[in-house]
Amino acid sequence: MAGTLYLVPTPIGNLGDISYRAVQTLAQADFIAAEDTRVSLRLLNHLELKKPLVSYHEHNKQESGPRILERLLGGESCALVTDAGSPAISDPGEDLVRLCAEHAVAVCAIPGPCAAITALSVSALPTRRFCFEGFLPAKGKERRTLLAALKTERRTMIFYEAPHRLQDTLASLMEAFGPDRPISLCRELTKLHEQILRLTLGEAVAFYEQNDPRGEYVLIVQGASEQDEPGTSLADAVALAKRLEQAGLRKKEAARQAAEQTGLAKNAIYAGLLAEAPEP
Ligand code: SAM
Repeated sequence: MAGTLYLVPTPIGNLGDISYRAVQTLAQADFIAAEDTRVSLRLLNHLELKKPLVSYHEHNKQESGPRILERLLGGESCALVTDAGSPAISDPGEDLVRLCAEHAVAVCAIPGPCAAITALSVSALPTRRFCFEGFLPAKGKERRTLLAALKTERRTMIFYEAPHRLQDTLASLMEAFGPDRPISLCRELTKLHEQILRLTLGEAVAFYEQNDPRGEYVLIVQGASEQDEPGTSLADAVALAKRLEQAGLRKKEAARQAAEQTGLAKNAIYAGLLAEAPEP
C-alpha cells in the first residue's frame, strides 16, 4: 500500500509556532522533503529530531518530485516542509501535491502557520472576502496587465513581496489603484521586529522613499469601492446616442437620453455625435 505525503507547516519566524501535531508528523515520517535542507536541519535540531532529508525545491522539482513519488508508491511516508509557512502556498509544494493526486497517493495537510493568513487577520482591512495573489510578476508588462485586471477587484488582495522589490511593487500598485487605496504592510510577522503599517498607497510610497525596506513583507490591499468601478466611456455613450438617433431621435434628444442613461455630460456626447456625423 502506498504511503502518505504530509504537508507540514513550519514557523514563519517564531519557533514556538510549530504545532504539536506538526512535530509528531515529522517524528513519524520515514523521510522529510525540504526546500532548503540547511534551514530544515536547524529546525529539526531545535526539535531534537533526526530524520533522513531529501531536497525538493523550485530548481530540482522535475527530478526530485518523481523520486519522492516512487518512494511513496513503495509504501514510505514523507513529510514535506518548506523554508517557512505552509507547503504548497507560493512554493513548489504545489507541484508535488498535484503529482501525488495524479497517482492516487494520499496527501494530508496539517494546519499551521501561513504568512498570508497571519497578515490578513492583523491587517484591519475587510477579511470576509479576499483573494491571494502571491508574488506579482517581475516583468513590467505582465505586472501591468495583471494589476489592470485587479483594478476593480472588490475583495481584499494579498501579495507577497521580497524587500528588494518592495519600492517597485508599491509604485506599481499606486499606479494601478491610485494613491488613496488603503494598504497594510505586514513586516517580519511573528519575529522580534514585527511591524504593521496601515497606510494608503501614496503614504506607503512616500514612507519607503525615506526608509529602506527590511525583512519579509506581506501586503494587504483593500479591494475597490463602488467609485473605482469603471463607468461608461464617452465613446460608449456616443455610440448609444448614435443608435438612438438612428432609431429616429434628433441629435440633441439622443444626446440628452444617452446622458441620462450613462451619467456623462450631454454636451460632450452631443459634440461626439457631431464629430462623427458625415460632412454635409
Ligand atoms: N509558504 C509560505 C507561507 O505559507 O506563507 C510562503 C512562502 S513564500 C516563498 C515567502 C514569502 O512569504 C515571503 O517573500 C514573504 O512575502 C512571506 N513571508 C514569509 N514569512 C514572513 C514573515 N515572517 N513576515 C512577513 N512575510 C513573510
